Amino acid sequence: MRYSSGESWYDTAQVCLNGHVFNSTSIRHPKPNQKFCSVCGLDIISKCTDCGGNIQGKLHTPGVTVVGRWNPPSYCHHCGKPHPWIAEKLNAAKELTELLDELTPEEQEQLKMSLDDLVKDGPRTVVAQSRFKRILSKTGPEIATGFKDILVDVVSESVKKAIWGQ
Ligand SMILES: [Zn+2]
Ligand SMILES: [Zn+2]
Repeated sequence: MRYSSGESWYDTAQVCLNGHVFNSTSIRHPKPNQKFCSVCGLDIISKCTDCGGNIQGKLHTPGVTVVGRWNPPSYCHHCGKPHPWIAEKLNAAKELTELLDELTPEEQEQLKMSLDDLVKDGPRTVVAQSRFKRILSKTGPEIATGFKDILVDVVSESVKKAIWGQ
């Protein structure tokens, strides 16, 4: 742990399985240990549930104080697997997809595939959001709202704008 070196370093975060942040700087500013989330009651973890690597917390840069909301990372930077709070939401959105009788099985499959790309911010995100929007236009507005409720915390601002217009 390099507290005083000149380099930037990532702290380790403690986050509940639903993605509520308990402590984004658990190394520099340890809090009394708390096992369960005070918001939702689920376990608080500080390690990846797949590989056991630390969950990346806030970046400390000497001389720089970062203020404002901090969002937990979506994917483990050790193994690349989605953290539980992302995996759960992806699963919920996929289950919702399977309930949409108005879509063909092929469209359901495409919608599910685009979900993974929607939450990853990468070159395929734009493709995914166009596909998502096109397929979603075949369902009712309450379905679009349902997806929004599930995904609102895990997709980027630009994806939100492109799909739901806000
Ligand atoms: Zn929680
Ligand atoms: Zn991992």
